[in-house]
Amino acid sequence: MDPSTRTGISATASARVVDVLVPVALDQTYSYRVPRGMELEAGDLIGVPLGPREVLGVVWAKNPNPDPRLHNRLKDVGEKLDIPPLKAELRAMVDWVANYTLSPRGMVLRMCLRMGEDLGPERVRVGVRLVGDPPRRLTPARRRVIDVLSDHLLHGKSEAAKAAGVSTSVIDGLVDEGTLATEPMPPAPPPPAPDPAYAQPEFTRQQRAAVDGMRALAANGTFHVALLDGVTGSGKTEVYFEAVAETMRRGKQSLILMPEIALTGQFLDRFAQRFGVRPIEWHSELTPRTRARNWAAIAAGEAPVVVGARSALFLPYAKLGLIVVDEEHDQAYKQEDGVRYHARDMAVVRAHIARIPIVLASATPSIETEVNARKGRYQRIELSSRFGGQHMPHIEAIDLRREVPPRGRFISPRLAGEIRSAIERREQALLFLNRRGYAPLTLCRACGHRFACTICDAWLVDHRFRQRLVCHHCGFSMPRPHVCPNCAAEESLVAVGPGVERLQEEAAALFPEARTMVLSSDLITSIDTMRSELNEIAEGRVDIIIGTQLVAKGHNFPRLNLVGVVDADLGLSNGDPRAAERTWQLLNQVIGRAGRDQGRGVGYLQTHQPEHPVMKALVACDREAFYASEIEARERTLYPPFGRLASLIVSAGDRSSAEGFARRLVGLAPRDERVQVLGPAEAPLAVIKGRYRFRLLVKSARGFDLSEYLRQWLAAAPRPKGNLKLEVDVDPQSFF
Ligand code: ADP
Ligand code: ZN
Repeated sequence: MDPSTRTGISATASARVVDVLVPVALDQTYSYRVPRGMELEAGDLIGVPLGPREVLGVVWAKNPNPDPRLHNRLKDVGEKLDIPPLKAELRAMVDWVANYTLSPRGMVLRMCLRMGEDLGPERVRVGVRLVGDPPRRLTPARRRVIDVLSDHLLHGKSEAAKAAGVSTSVIDGLVDEGTLATEPMPPAPPPPAPDPAYAQPEFTRQQRAAVDGMRALAANGTFHVALLDGVTGSGKTEVYFEAVAETMRRGKQSLILMPEIALTGQFLDRFAQRFGVRPIEWHSELTPRTRARNWAAIAAGEAPVVVGARSALFLPYAKLGLIVVDEEHDQAYKQEDGVRYHARDMAVVRAHIARIPIVLASATPSIETEVNARKGRYQRIELSSRFGGQHMPHIEAIDLRREVPPRGRFISPRLAGEIRSAIERREQALLFLNRRGYAPLTLCRACGHRFACTICDAWLVDHRFRQRLVCHHCGFSMPRPHVCPNCAAEESLVAVGPGVERLQEEAAALFPEARTMVLSSDLITSIDTMRSELNEIAEGRVDIIIGTQLVAKGHNFPRLNLVGVVDADLGLSNGDPRAAERTWQLLNQVIGRAGRDQGRGVGYLQTHQPEHPVMKALVACDREAFYASEIEARERTLYPPFGRLASLIVSAGDRSSAEGFARRLVGLAPRDERVQVLGPAEAPLAVIKGRYRFRLLVKSARGFDLSEYLRQWLAAAPRPKGNLKLEVDVDPQSFF
């Protein structure tokens, strides 16, 4: 080869540099040289050397003018993976979310690449076929394998072993004997696609208007936000399924986001009843293999509908055409660790970037969404009555100051009487108490000692099923002692206050014949066990359900007509600016479980403050009164959506360093009349896991770029060193 041509090539090659983002906690991209013969475009997935390892990375940009002095020190890209590139739309989303939440871009990218280890094309599976004579030594296990394979067809190796009830080593033995031969299995066919015309329901007149709105929005296919605002049981799911169907017909993918806990089998079955097959799922409990397969199907555009928890928002859809956020008001959409993002808000961002429609569905919209609908920024599509003409539940308050439960009990006589008649009518009753465990506090009757966590500022919660006292903040637990550790009195410990386990005890004592079931997240080991327990209830094998907010979401229990809220005031006094909103949403949702099928639903609110505006709005079924007063209060105090908030949480192993650093931060806050920095204040939960916590609350005007303000502030501030930690939470949902 002519030497001059060679130099010529390397001169052009010197321009071939790409900037690569890697999915680790780093914000900046790194430059790599593209080896000869490799063609790379922005979005391509590649392997790159990083320190001693080769890691997965994504080409973020081509770098047309790399610094020539650096060039020789750059490392080469390792390999290009045979995976569709991340689209510009998703890369823009990563940049946007990182910028908004002040997270390193690599951390956001990591959420897009959670496909597990099996990156490339699916591992080739081994199949086995019966080809030779039986071996001389024919054990019963071997005989069973030969029986299973007697059709001489190709079977998956592990499936064959499972069918024969043997380990795969038995199969390996038969391969060695020449009885069986191995062959690669052809790749599994993609699952059958959902059919938009499979079983379209007949809609009521009111639903038809909403369905028309859904279809029009999906058919337009441009950015547009609709609030599907319908009372519980009005058919919101059936109605937004029509937007999904229309999106399918247009050959695009739909994403349905749900709070994780609402991803029930019941929902998947309903989807299958409407579209013929279950959708692709995405949540934290997928096996690595399913995760990899689903990710690949989504990226290849072979998954027409994905139903997932908030993390599904960051998947690499090949042709996303619609997003639905079900239960849009749900607090579970906020991720509280790592990248602190709100999936509903970021879903609107993604729809905006991708220029596609989005539907927010709720019976109790968040104040933010309600205000957007009132101002006309979101289209409101309404369903004001229940499907099938069922009435909304009738709601009554039980004033606990007058109707007092017996000593040491929590169910008032009136509520107990109503439950008794419900059971006699062979209907179900739900007792709702948003408190896990048996009792929130244990104390010694002799000396007054209270059991507290040793490393958190919190009482230990008595969990009788597990026989332990547990800290709900750090997970610390200890066996419930028989002797007071403070005064050595015996049998002197008493449980104070109720949790769901204690209510079950009370219900069992009041109604010995009734079948009771406790539904609480700590008693549920997996989504599967939860799905089967919900099925038991739906099939009527339980008379009294005792549950935490786990039961509030998205289930249909046809025989449930009575809901008793044991402590309606529980969420009102916790210092959270959204306390009223959350209480209203949660109680509406829970009581909305009643009377969905036949008979009249009724809800009882046990409360010490029946005159509270939230209780009054609930009893009067006066939604407008609630929104009007809450929106007015937010506007007056400039809380979201009329102002913006961010929290800075400083923590350290000792109180004075945490407080000192927090004070220094306040002193360094840039002055701006549109911003108010409040604090530092000791956090309501002042110590978690042995770390002392101080909070700053930053308030700004609505249109203000709070993220940019925070970035400039923190860039000029000292970095938290050693034991100090600073967490930034833009648009905080939690204030403890
Ligand atoms: P929401 O989500 O508003 O609470 P759902 O979509 O769960 O309401 O609907 C409540 C019940 O009514 C479900 O069992 C659903 O299948 C049924 N339903 C709603 N609309 C129809 C319809 N047009 N035809 C048949 N069943 C319907
Ligand atoms: Zn603790």
